[in-house]
Amino acid sequence: KKEEIETKVTIIGSGPGGYVAAIKLAQLGAEVVLVEKDKVGGTCLNRGCIPTKALVRSADVFKNIKESEAYGCKVENYNLDIGQVISRKNQVASQLGEGISYLLEKNNIKYVKGCGEILDQNTVFVKTKHRETTIKTEYIIIATGSTTTKLPIPGIDLDNVLGSTEIMEIDELPKEMVIIGGGVIGMEFAFIFNTFGTKISVVEYMDKLLPNLDEDICHEIEEIAENKGINIYTNSKVEEIIRDENNKAIVGFTNNGEKKYISTEKVLVSIGRQPYLDGLGIEKLGLELNTNKKGIKVNEKLMTSISNIFAIGDATGGIQLAHVASAQGIVAANNIMGIEDTMDYSIIPSAIFTDPEIASVGIDEKYAKENNIEVEIGKFPIASNGKALTLGASEGFVKVIVDKNSKKILGASIIGPNATDLINEISIAMTNGLKAEDITKTIHPHPTTSESVFEALLAASGACIHN
Ligand code: FAD
Repeated sequence: KKEEIETKVTIIGSGPGGYVAAIKLAQLGAEVVLVEKDKVGGTCLNRGCIPTKALVRSADVFKNIKESEAYGCKVENYNLDIGQVISRKNQVASQLGEGISYLLEKNNIKYVKGCGEILDQNTVFVKTKHRETTIKTEYIIIATGSTTTKLPIPGIDLDNVLGSTEIMEIDELPKEMVIIGGGVIGMEFAFIFNTFGTKISVVEYMDKLLPNLDEDICHEIEEIAENKGINIYTNSKVEEIIRDENNKAIVGFTNNGEKKYISTEKVLVSIGRQPYLDGLGIEKLGLELNTNKKGIKVNEKLMTSISNIFAIGDATGGIQLAHVASAQGIVAANNIMGIEDTMDYSIIPSAIFTDPEIASVGIDEKYAKENNIEVEIGKFPIASNGKALTLGASEGFVKVIVDKNSKKILGASIIGPNATDLINEISIAMTNGLKAEDITKTIHPHPTTSESVFEALLAASGACIHN
């Protein structure tokens, strides 16, 4: 069957970039076609943010049961049913997927299932087994996301070497697992599976875990991970994976120049993701890529080198976060509809769902030093926060960076309970150019973990009450 559609905007990819852009455009009155080759919701909903957080929740429940005796509620005879863990995760994702489909319908967005190819700057072609759709369009938004980066070493194709998508579909809990890559995705899985009872080793190329974070946070999370029994090998380059006679994988790596081997049931490779642009036809179109050839080059309006084609999210090779993709989707939608809008990357919060959680926004201490910014640093230990102690979660701290002269808040790094929610107070303060005292004169409810942000800001001027 062949069909031809005419529309104002065609969006390729329905992740948090694409579907949010579609809804925004529809709200602004545009006719929109959304093309998706897989499931609605993209990586974020089906293989990323949401499924991992469903697993984090299962790990959390399991941990609470394991530690229940300390809280006066002894539970006996408990066990982990990995099949149920996986099916609950799938159920959460599919419920949210239905929610997005409902929103698309409500906003009269035409959803075309299939792989989209850009034939020319005003034509997108979608072909499936039974249907060929030609879409004539005024604008195109490329929101095709990213895919896992393959490690070019021998043994990478062995069947017990998995990526983040496959590890979330297992039907048996591995006894041991080596995680190659101690970045955000690797560390979230390290904590999840460690709590489930898998013996975890993390092998990281750089000299620390989560290398983009504040140095104090890096040290803290490494110490916490080690205390929980996770083996960490930093400064380590994985060179090969060998299958032994018992079908186990042996991961061979150099650690500080010394060759080491770990025998393991499963290997999880999480060394990063790269823009997914396969089959889009961008070479023929002559669309400019970034200088490192990774991702589509865009300007601050998310416009590509062809002015009626925009690109957003992971496909642009920038910050790989769902909320960045969505924010870019809105900026692109506004510009298409004639509303001038640009992306500001200076206040992007990031959230890591390790145990405890980590979150940060703005600059950190090292950045301030390197750029000769005169700052006051306030640090408050979570162990001094009453609510945290009631939760049984006393590890971590809040660290804030305040401009010494203007007293404006420049950034924060938090490790501790609810860190991923707490960071928002700082983000809002920064977006509005608030000073430390704007928050410290705000009464914070007691007992809450938010008091630790309040106290850290007091600490920046040497006026902390509870430490
Ligand atoms: P995607 O979500 O990747 O969506 C792109 C879509 O385009 C896909 O559905 C794909 O099928 C489709 N597509 C591609 N090519 C075509 C084509 N030619 N035709 C039709 N359709 C096409 N980010 C966070 O902010 N918080 C987190 O907690 C978090 N956790 C993560 C955990 C994991 C394990 C992973 C892998 C990622 C995580 N991320 C997280 C990152 C986040 O998922 C991505 O940054 C986000 O999904 C990017 O959104 P996007 O819209 O650019 O692309």
